[in-house]
Amino acid sequence: MGKICVVGSLNMDLVATGKRIPVVGETVLGETFKQVPGGKGANQAAAMGRLHGDVAMIGKVGEDAFGEALIQALAEAKVETKDVTKAPTSTGIALITVQADGDNAIVVVPGANAELKPADIDAAKATIEESEIVITQLETPMDTVTYALKLAKKLGKVTILNPAPAVRLKDELIQNVDYLTPNETELAILSGMPTESQEELEAAAKAMMNKGVKVLIVTLGSKGCLVIDENGTRQFSAFKVKAVDTTAAGDSFNGGVAVALAEGKSLEEAIGFATKVGALTVQKAGAQSSLPTREEVDGFRG
Ligand code: ADP
Repeated sequence: MGKICVVGSLNMDLVATGKRIPVVGETVLGETFKQVPGGKGANQAAAMGRLHGDVAMIGKVGEDAFGEALIQALAEAKVETKDVTKAPTSTGIALITVQADGDNAIVVVPGANAELKPADIDAAKATIEESEIVITQLETPMDTVTYALKLAKKLGKVTILNPAPAVRLKDELIQNVDYLTPNETELAILSGMPTESQEELEAAAKAMMNKGVKVLIVTLGSKGCLVIDENGTRQFSAFKVKAVDTTAAGDSFNGGVAVALAEGKSLEEAIGFATKVGALTVQKAGAQSSLPTREEVDGFRG
């Protein structure tokens, strides 16, 4: 089984619930509080660890208790954390207030994630060298993501970019991506084209393929995913399950794809595996806490 290296973000989500979100200048009494490990990079790494992937994380936390807790959470998911280093700033956080009707208000402070620099990628070069797959997202600086993908390709690695949160991407970045995995909203932003109808979706996907992506996997929530590669376009359906909370569906799906590819599975098998992982994730509340184990995925029959 090949090793997977995740270059990405780690955040602590601080979630307070109450009757309603306060207005400017107001203080309200809340009801519950939870501290939940998150960040797309860390979520994807944790997903892979729980799926028995051989996975290492490259990222940055602050010199505070949240940083320690995030490293601990990854270690518990069997993710190698020696390349998660510390910056003299705060750990990335998301301050989330949820009111009784479920609506929320969120402040994200990238903190140490914004300090992940190309020099950190160089410092972790040995980890990239021993990996077969390098996967990254867009919650760390664009020049670092671009640098990591370029270095990975130079070293002959397979690269996966989960382009979230989406922005228009430079061609030099896209040319270093083997697998691009947007959801349909992200595809609309990447391509600058609408993705509402099936025709629009396929046209936007083809436009991205023309930029040099080898395999495009567009996730479509309960509608499954659209896959385009040199063999053409095909659609894979999702499992019919009762979705409780779709947080981290995309992160777990990406983790599933990476683990299956690292095990030498075909693209079709990898999609099938990741679709099970996504279906299990949406049946539980939370982000890292909702990620399924390998045993749950292998035992899942839809
Ligand atoms: P994101 O979280 O990035 O928006 P999606 O919502 O497209 O990602 O979900 C990723 C994958 O997870 C889907 O392709 C699908 O396989 C699975 N999934 C997501 N939502 C559901 C659902 N409601 N029922 C079954 N599977 C789902």
